[in-house]
Amino acid sequence: MGCDIKSMTLEELRKEVEGLGEKGFRAAQLYGWMHDKLAEDYDRMTNLPSALRQRLGEEYPLTRLELMNMQESALDKTRKFLFSLGDGNLVESVWMKYKHGNSVCISSQAGCRMGCRFCASTLDGWARDLLPSEMLEQVYAVTRITGERISNVVVMGTGEPLDNYDNLLRFLRLLTAKGGLNISQRNITVSTCGLVPKMRRLAEEGMQITLALSLHAATDVKRRSLMPIAEKWSLDELMEACAYYFEKTGRRITFEYALVGGINDSPADAGRLAALAKPLAAHVNLIPVNPIRERDYRESGRFATEAFKKELEKNKINVTIRREMGRDIDGACGQLRRRHLSEER
Ligand code: SAH
Repeated sequence: MGCDIKSMTLEELRKEVEGLGEKGFRAAQLYGWMHDKLAEDYDRMTNLPSALRQRLGEEYPLTRLELMNMQESALDKTRKFLFSLGDGNLVESVWMKYKHGNSVCISSQAGCRMGCRFCASTLDGWARDLLPSEMLEQVYAVTRITGERISNVVVMGTGEPLDNYDNLLRFLRLLTAKGGLNISQRNITVSTCGLVPKMRRLAEEGMQITLALSLHAATDVKRRSLMPIAEKWSLDELMEACAYYFEKTGRRITFEYALVGGINDSPADAGRLAALAKPLAAHVNLIPVNPIRERDYRESGRFATEAFKKELEKNKINVTIRREMGRDIDGACGQLRRRHLSEER
């Protein structure tokens, strides 16, 4: 972790601080400033001795994100933030206001290497993994800017979170820790395209987060045509990993299913999806696919969408159609980051 002080747990921070010859209680003060009061620089940490503040400032640069752009949806108040990381890489986060609270969708990598064919985040490939502090800072920066508390976090922005496993886990632990924002694990969703061994590992972490699986197809052939990752693990292996997650955590999986016109939206597809969801008691979240300029996938029609949903309901599957938010600001799934990159060129 080097000197990335904002990615340290309180325990690690205590050792670090003691290593600097300071009293252990300074760690809790420092931790509170960073993760509870969301201080952006050491100058604000007025109850720390100034010599310590100076030393920290020199040797432990605080991870910060620079706000490059913010857009607010005229439709639903959703806000999209473009942040620059310390090295100039760009990430986006989306803030959504619901009746039950505020939710933020964060990115876990700059770019993505999973290659899903309908997704814009993968078109330029992967640049790098985000540090735990860079994931945290998205939540913190959005909190500072909006001035409102965040109750829910979804790791569904750019990147494959389980492809950045260790940093993700550390992020989740810090986000839910006492002394920080202390967000309830049950209010956190991690979305994966289906990295089977990592899903199994996550099941063993003893966490109560929700795992969302981007399924998008109910046969291997169709899934492989949409998602390269499906070449690596079959639906059988994927469903076994889901069953394991459910068994270990008691948390129901969510299946994300983007409806693509003429590709995966027939009643027969719905029937097969129901058969997968049923034994897991999985919740199915239908997403109208967002057509991206670079590919010619199109949305399912309203009629096909309703018929698909009815077929699932007939099979007693718990299903919702995702309310699209921030579509006018490209805040919707798979649209993040791309436009800015191409404008830059
Ligand atoms: N890599 C993770 C999380 C990021 S993608 C994952 O695959 O789950 C977040 C969600 O948006 C995934 O369900 C993804 O499949 C979906 N998505 C990507 N592009 C989309 C598009 N053009 N239309 C609808 N959903 C899309």
